[in-house]
Amino acid sequence: MDPSGAGTSNDEFKFKVVLLGEGAVGKSSLMLRYVQGNFNPRHISTIQASFLSKQLVVDGADIDLSIWDTAGQEKYHALGPIYYRGSHGALLVYDVTDAKSFDKVKMWVKELRRALGDDVVLFIVGNKVDLADSRTVETEMATQFATSVGATYEETSAKENIGVENLFELMCSAMVSRARAGPS
Ligand code: GDP
Repeated sequence: MDPSGAGTSNDEFKFKVVLLGEGAVGKSSLMLRYVQGNFNPRHISTIQASFLSKQLVVDGADIDLSIWDTAGQEKYHALGPIYYRGSHGALLVYDVTDAKSFDKVKMWVKELRRALGDDVVLFIVGNKVDLADSRTVETEMATQFATSVGATYEETSAKENIGVENLFELMCSAMVSRARAGPS
């Protein structure tokens, strides 16, 4: 923003991003790492807030980003369109040490494409890469799958703060491009 009004001001965007995936893959941890800059080693099952916001500037755009967490409701199959309706992007998170959690991501891709079409920006996120010795899902396989469904693949560790900021910035950059290009 330029308070003098003399220069060019940035575009402004408000984006909603949802976190989806199996319980305990690290969704809350990624959100807290990115927005609050910390990590809690306990399972954060009691979190009450359904979303956190962050302001950032990406590609010459002022972005008001709201990140929605499932608040543990995935366990009760209570998540439906009311949660992800109006999303500009979705982060489909799995745990690289848990192949079952990767299968869940495949299910979410189908569900979101059916409900939101091609306008939603999809990122598939392999979290917990710090646990390299226990890894069961290989990067190459996950990348190939992501490409085949028009998604972007990134890897993170919320614990060791690897790739987290980059993930959200790439996501915002993709949403800005999508928004500037207009409806498809
Ligand atoms: P959610 O249910 O998907 O929101 O998962 P949580 O964020 O509550 O995390 C579940 C558990 O995994 C917690 O014990 C976290 O401390 C742990 N965790 C989350 N991210 C990482 C990570 O990047 N590496 C490791 N080693 N543990 C993690």
